[in-house]
Amino acid sequence: MSSAFAEALAAGDFAAVRRAAKADLHSHSYFAAPIADVEQWLGRAIDRPPPRMDGLDGMRAYSRQAISPYMDNWTAFEFVAGAAVRHAQSDGVVLLEASFDIWAVRHHPDGLRGLTALAASLESQFRGQVDVRPEVGFSRSYVSKDDLMTSVWEAIESGVFRSIDMYAFEGDCDPEAVQDLYEHARSHGLKLKAHVGEFGGADEVKRTVEILQLDEVQHGIAAAESTAVMHWLADNQIRLNVCPTSNVMLGAAADLASHPIRTLYDHGVDVTINSDDLMIFGQSVSDEYLNLYRAGVCTADELEEIRIRSFR
Ligand SMILES: [Zn+2]
Repeated sequence: MSSAFAEALAAGDFAAVRRAAKADLHSHSYFAAPIADVEQWLGRAIDRPPPRMDGLDGMRAYSRQAISPYMDNWTAFEFVAGAAVRHAQSDGVVLLEASFDIWAVRHHPDGLRGLTALAASLESQFRGQVDVRPEVGFSRSYVSKDDLMTSVWEAIESGVFRSIDMYAFEGDCDPEAVQDLYEHARSHGLKLKAHVGEFGGADEVKRTVEILQLDEVQHGIAAAESTAVMHWLADNQIRLNVCPTSNVMLGAAADLASHPIRTLYDHGVDVTINSDDLMIFGQSVSDEYLNLYRAGVCTADELEEIRIRSFR
C-alpha cells in the first residue's frame, strides 16, 4: 500500500484517517456543525433524525420540527458556521468550500454586509490552517423572491464568495431561470456549481451543466444511470461532489454498498467525497472515507487517489 492514508483506512485507524489532509467541497454552513456542539451551545437536546427520510421532503419535515425552532436566527447561523469550520479542522479538512445560504441576509440588520463580514472573518480566522472558501448558496425556491435574488447578485460582486451553488427541489426552478445569474458569477470568476441528479435523472444533470456552464455538480449521482452521460462528464472534466451518507439517508441510494460512486469512478468521472449536512447526516469527511472502505465500495488506494485529486 502506497500511502499513510491508505494504510490508515485498511487498518481502521480512524485517528490517522482524520490526520490526513482532506477537502470538503460540499458543505452547507447552516447544517454543518456537529449536532452535539449545537446542543451544548443551545443548552438543550435536539431530536435526532430518523435513519431514513423520504427525500428532501422528509429532510425538510425533520429540520422544521427539530432544528428550525431554535436555529432560525442570525446568532445561531453565526455559531453553526464557526463551529462547522472548527469541526472540519479537527477532522483534517484543510480545504473547505463552505456554502452560506443567502436566506441569512434576512436575519442580519445589515443584510448582505453582515453575511459577507461573517464569511470573510471565518476565512481570515482560519488562514494557514483551513483554506475556507466561502460559497454563496440559494434554494431553487428563492427565484421568486426578489430581495434574496438581488442579494445573490450582489454577493457575487462582493468579492468574498469564490463559488455559487443552487439547491433543493429541481422542479422549483429550471436552470434557464438562473442562466443570467450564473453568467454574472462566471464573469466575476466564481466557480459554478448546482445540485442536480440527486433525485432527478442523468439527462437533467447534463442539461443543467450545459445551460449553466457548471464546473462541478453537487451530488449528480443519477449520472450513473447513463453510460453516455458519464462519458460526457469525464470527457468534459465535470466534477461530482458526492455525499454518500446523505444519499442513503434520503433514499437517493439504496445503501452504501451499492452506492453509484463505484460506477461513476469506473467510468472515469471525477468524484470527490464530502459531508453535505453534518448536523443531520452525522458523518464527517473522514467518516465517509472510512465508511466507503468498510462497505467494500472503494479500495484504500482508490480512496487515496480521490483524496489527492480533490485538491486539484
Ligand atoms: Zn447539498
